[in-house]
Parts: sequence; C-alpha cells; structure tokens
Amino acid sequence: MTTAHSSTTFADLTTIGVGGPIRTFLTPHTRDEVIAAVREADDAGVPLSVIGGGSNLLVSDDPFDGVVVRDARQEIRFGDAQADGTVSVSADAGCNWDDFVAVTVSHGLEGVEGLSGIPGTVGASVVQNIGAYGQEVASSVTQVDAWDRQHTRIVTLDAEHLDFGYRTSALKTSMYDAPARPSSRFFPTPRFVVLSVTFRLRNSDEGTVGYGQLAKALGVEVGDRMAVTAIRDAVLTVRAAKGMLEDAHRYRIPAMTGAKRDDTIAAALHAQREATGTDSPDFNRHSCGSFFTNPILDAAQAAALPDDAPRFPATLPSGEPGTKTSAAWLIDHAGFHKGYAIADNAPASLSTLHTLALTNRGSARAEDIAVLARTVRDGVEHAYGIRLIPEPVIVGLEL
Ligand SMILES: Cc1cc2nc3c(=O)[nH]c(=O)nc-3n(C[C@H](O)[C@H](O)[C@H](O)COP(=O)(O)OP(=O)(O)OC[C@H]3O[C@@H](n4cnc5c(N)ncnc54)[C@H](O)[C@@H]3O)c2cc1C
Repeated sequence: MTTAHSSTTFADLTTIGVGGPIRTFLTPHTRDEVIAAVREADDAGVPLSVIGGGSNLLVSDDPFDGVVVRDARQEIRFGDAQADGTVSVSADAGCNWDDFVAVTVSHGLEGVEGLSGIPGTVGASVVQNIGAYGQEVASSVTQVDAWDRQHTRIVTLDAEHLDFGYRTSALKTSMYDAPARPSSRFFPTPRFVVLSVTFRLRNSDEGTVGYGQLAKALGVEVGDRMAVTAIRDAVLTVRAAKGMLEDAHRYRIPAMTGAKRDDTIAAALHAQREATGTDSPDFNRHSCGSFFTNPILDAAQAAALPDDAPRFPATLPSGEPGTKTSAAWLIDHAGFHKGYAIADNAPASLSTLHTLALTNRGSARAEDIAVLARTVRDGVEHAYGIRLIPEPVIVGLEL
C-alpha cells in the first residue's frame, strides 16, 4: 500500500541535503500504485517530482506545493542465459543502483561493474545515461517500461526511443524546452516515468578495464581483462578517495527507510568508516556528484583552449565532430581549487577532494550552493569563454 509521509523536506531526500518542505511525499509499493500516484498528481495539475535517490537534484529552500513520489519497489529479475553468452536482467525503477550492480557482479555478470558506487536508482540511471570509468548505462540497456504522462498509458521504449547521449536521453530532454530552460509541462519529472529497466549483461566473470585511472589502481593496462569483482572493488576505492560516493549515514533517517537494502547499508557504512577513519558524516560526500558536465566544444572554441587543457574526441549535439574538455581542469585553472569557498566558514564549498563537486558542509541552504555555482561558472567563463552547464536537475532556483 502507498505510504504517505508527513513533514519531509527535500533536504531529507537529497544527497546534497538542501531543499524545502514537501506538501505530499508518497512511497508506492506496487507498479499500479506508482502509476496511480503519478496520474492523480497530473490529473489534479499539481507539481510532480518523481524522485529516486535524490543524488542529481538541487531543489530550492521554498516549500514544494506538490507531490513527491519515490517508488519503493526493489526487485531484480534474472532471465535465462542465451546461446550468445548474454543474460537479460530486469530491475524495478526504485531499486538502488549500487545494490543492482553488486547483485549482478556477484552473479558473474559483466556490463555495469564500472558504474559501481554511483548513487541513485535504476529508474534514474537511464534519465541522464549515467557513466563512469569508461562505461555508460546506455551500452547495456535494452528496454525501459515507462508510464507515458502525455498519452496516459504504459509504453516500452527501446534504444531508438531513448536516444541516449553524453549524460542525456530522450527522458531528460523531455523536461526542457531548450538547454537549461525547463518545460512548463514536464519539469521536474520527465514525460516518461520509468517503471522498470531491462539490461543485457554478459555471463562472464571478467570485465574490461576501460579507464586509465582505474587501470593504474589495478596495476594493469587499459583494455586488460580482470575479474568483475576486482573492477568493482577498484572503482569503489578510487571513488572513496575522491569523495565521489554518497554518505551512507543518510539511510539512517526515517525519510530514507526502504530506499536501500539493510545489508548493503551496513556494508556501505563499514566501507565509509574504513575510508574516512570516522563514524561522522563526510561532508565531501554531501554533493550532487559532478556539478557541471564536461563541455563539448566546436573547432573554434577548442582552438582557443590553452595547449595543456585535456582534449578528447566527442560529438556535438548537432552531430558534428567536437572536442570534449574537462570541467574539473577548467575550474581548477580558473583559480577555484579543491576546498574553495566564497568566504571563510561559508556553509558551501568545493569538495576538498574534487573540484567538480559542490558540497554542503553541514548547514548550507540551496541558495548557498547556487551562489557558489554561479561564482565558479562565471569565473570559468571569464577565464576561458566557456559557459559550464550544470548536470543536476535544478528545481525552483535560477543559476
Ligand atoms: C557522490 C555522487 C557521485 C556521482 N557520480 C556520478 C557518476 O560517476 N556518473 C554519473 O553519471 N552520475 C553521477 N552522479 C549523479 C547521480 O548519481 C545520477 O545522475 C543518478 O542516476 C541519479 O539517480 P537518482 O535516483 O538519485 O535521481 P534523482 O536525483 O532522484 O532524480 C534525477 C532526475 O531523474 C528523474 N527520475 C528519478 N526517478 C525516475 C523514474 N523512475 N522515472 C523517470 N524519471 C525519474 C527525476 O524526476 C529527476 O528529474 C553522482 C552523484 C553523487 C551524489
């Protein structure tokens, strides 16, 4: 049965720990209840926020006069092994993403091990096509079952409908009329509410090491094959050293009950204690992860970059070839180093471990994060003429 919670704030439900009070917060436990909750809000014309782990959301401190829905379903279903060595695995949208990775890796399946430790849910993984360490979720997703809010029906979306790109998909673009301009109809929840995602994974105890930093941590070369369990462990270690994991303490508050399995919460708390040497909250992890995407530049912009700036081949939204550079490099070289804050003792700062993460040091409000974001974005634009684009979904705030 759908549970209705009182006195919940977005600060309770998001990894960055900011955001105002929520009028209605619902946690449906069946597919029909998820659809009913979404449908009721849409029929009544009230703002709707379908939330997963709240790890890619920055919400204003103002009251949210609408409905927040968090799918409480966590089931993972395994299909039969196919002759080509693949297995179809389907998971409920509400399933915690890292729980999904842990389970598939423990079943000896290759395909998502490089995405270990990314906070959030299976449902949201396809919204921004999560990626890390040489892997993207797009390469293993075969289909998404979703509720279409426009035509009020369940649909099955395949790769063509999903239109995955770098940190984007048709689900994400359905929320915007133009880049960073929220749609009046579907923001801050996509037109398609994901109900479940089906992946094609490979029956193999080994995966490919797809990224230099990871290869270094494992003492191998990029392209080498390694046990998927070893790749997962190395990714989690590298992420912990950069503060790019969520703070597992967040699952101890009542509003987060049921959002992750009890055994994996205990394991994450243990690993966090080992990594940080303390049982206290780790404010470097109170972030939305990377706050800005890596810019993809046209030929003229790329030519104007300093010689020592990173450059990778990429594709522009127009389909033309472009050059991807590093947002972290631009931020650092524009003078915003790790730990940067606009004033001593400011409640928000860059992570002391990573320039791309804007963090809440314990008492920040949404506006403190926004001021820091504007300062960094404008400083980079002033130094390099490149306007950084925020990665999180930003609700009720103007950057
Ligand atoms: C410490 C940290 C590290 C991170 N590292 C990475 C990384 O390496 N790579 C990367 O790609 N991202 C990374 N992220 C960003 C984030 O974890 C991902 O974007 C993640 O997929 C968000 O999932 P979520 O469930 O928390 O989404 P939320 O923040 O809850 O929601 C984000 C958007 O997705 C929508 N959404 C949520 N559930 C559904 C659903 N069922 N159907 C339709 N829409 C839905 C919401 O409406 C919202 O618009 C990181 C974040 C943090 C805090």
